[in-house]
Amino acid sequence: MPQQQPVPPRSTKELGRLASVQMDSNTPIRLYFRSADLLIKQARVYKMEKDYQHAYVLYMKYTNLGIKELPRHPMYKDPENKKARIIIKKNCMEALDALEVMNPILTKEYEQYVEQMGQQRRLEQKYDIDARHAQQLKGITTQNKYDIDQDDKHQASEEQWSLQNALKDVAGVGSNDRSYALEETTTGPITEYPSRTFENQSDGYLYEPRNQERYQNVPASAQPPIPPKPALPDTKVANHAPIIPPKISLELQSHQESPIPVPTLPPKVRLVPDPVPTPLPELQNSSGATTERGEPLRRLIVPKSLQEKFLNIAQQNTNRNIETCGILAGTLKNNVLQVTTLIIPKQNGTSDTCTTENEEELFEYQDTHDLLTFGWIHTHPSQSCFLSSLDLHTHCSYQLMLPEAIAIVCAPKHNPSYGVFRLTDPPGLDVISSCRIERAFHPHPDLPIYTDTHNTSHVLNQMHELHVVDLRR
Ligand SMILES: [Zn+2]
Ligand SMILES: [Zn+2]
Repeated sequence: MPQQQPVPPRSTKELGRLASVQMDSNTPIRLYFRSADLLIKQARVYKMEKDYQHAYVLYMKYTNLGIKELPRHPMYKDPENKKARIIIKKNCMEALDALEVMNPILTKEYEQYVEQMGQQRRLEQKYDIDARHAQQLKGITTQNKYDIDQDDKHQASEEQWSLQNALKDVAGVGSNDRSYALEETTTGPITEYPSRTFENQSDGYLYEPRNQERYQNVPASAQPPIPPKPALPDTKVANHAPIIPPKISLELQSHQESPIPVPTLPPKVRLVPDPVPTPLPELQNSSGATTERGEPLRRLIVPKSLQEKFLNIAQQNTNRNIETCGILAGTLKNNVLQVTTLIIPKQNGTSDTCTTENEEELFEYQDTHDLLTFGWIHTHPSQSCFLSSLDLHTHCSYQLMLPEAIAIVCAPKHNPSYGVFRLTDPPGLDVISSCRIERAFHPHPDLPIYTDTHNTSHVLNQMHELHVVDLRR
C-alpha cells in the first residue's frame, strides 16, 4: 500500500456519495461562503500531499455547494455577494479540474484494491479447506460467526446523509450512521467503537476505528488474552493434520467448550501474512480524541506562548475592564492542524462582550497568507473563565465550519485563568445552532453544552513559534 493510502481505497462513486451537501436557506449565506473557503483550502492541502481521497471528497463537496446548492439560497444574488460569487465560480473551475485529474488515479487504485481482495479471497478459500480438515480431525466444534465479508460496512457507509444542520453538512459533520451513533451517546469520553466506520467531521472521510483489523492482523501481543483451552483428546492426530493458519477468530475459542459436537461450517480464518506491526500512517497522526458521538477529531497544536502573548496585547483593554478577542489561524499538514498565527482583528469591546469589525480585512489577511481559521481567544477582564451564552453562539459558527475549532478564554483575575473549550456534539452543537436568540445574554437548557478540551488529546500545547498580527493599528 502506498504511504498516502492508509485506508482501503474507495470507488469514486462512493467518495462522491460522501460529498453530498444540503443547504438550509435560513442559514446566513456568509457562513456558507466562509465554509466553502475552508473546504477548498483544506482540499488543496490534501491534494498537494497526494492524499487524493480526502481531496476528492472536499473538492466534490465544494462543487456540490457552489454549483448546485448555493445558487438556490435567497441571498445568493444580492449585489453585496458579487465578489463571493465570482470566487465561488473560479474555485469551482479549479475543483472540477482537480477532480478530473484525480479521478483516473483513484479509479486505478480502487481497481487494484479489488483485484488484491479477489486474490486474498481465493487464498482464504484454499485455506478454509485446509482449516476444515484440521478442525474435523481435532473434533472441534465451532460456530462460524465470523463474516469476513465487509459488505455490511460498505453498505453502512453508503447510506444517505440525514444531517440536521445544513452548515454542519457542508463542514462534513456527522457520521454516515448518525442515528446509530446517537444510541451509544454517553456523557463520558468515548475512546472507540470496535466495529464501526467513522467519518471525520471536517474532511468527510471514513476512518476505521484504530483497533479494527481490516487489512492486517493485529499482532498477537495486541490481542486480548485468550482463556486457556481445555486439553484436547487427541493431539497426536492433530500433529499430522495440515498446519492451521495461526489467526482464528476469538469467537471460535469460546465455542470450543461446547459439549455436543455439532457439524457446522468451519471457521473462516485470516490469512494475510502478519505485516510489520506499525500503526497505519493516517492513525499515527490522529489525535485519538473524538466528539461525544465518537467521531474523530484531528489534532490541533497550540503554541505554548499563546496565553502570555495574547494577555500582553490585551493588557491595556484589560486594565480598563474591556474584553479583547483574537483569531487563531494556522496551517493543515499531514492531517494535523497547527496554530501558527494570532490575528487581532479590528474590534469593539465592552466589559462582557467583544465583536469583530471589518471582517473583510481579516479574511483578506488570511487568504494572502494561506491561513485557516481554527478558533478564537478572548479575555474576561473581570469575569471568571467560562463561555457566556453569547460566546457559545460565536463559537458555534467556528465549530460548524471546523469541528476541531476551539474557544480559549483568559480570565486573569480568576483561578482557573485559562480555559480551552469546544461545544459538545451532542448535545451542545445542536442546541446552540438551533437556538434563535442570538443577540442578548439568554439561558440555554441545563445540559453539558460545552466542555473543557484543554488537557485532552485533541489539543496539544507545544513549543513553537507564534506569529502575532495586530490589525487594529
Ligand atoms: Zn466571553
Ligand atoms: Zn442561544
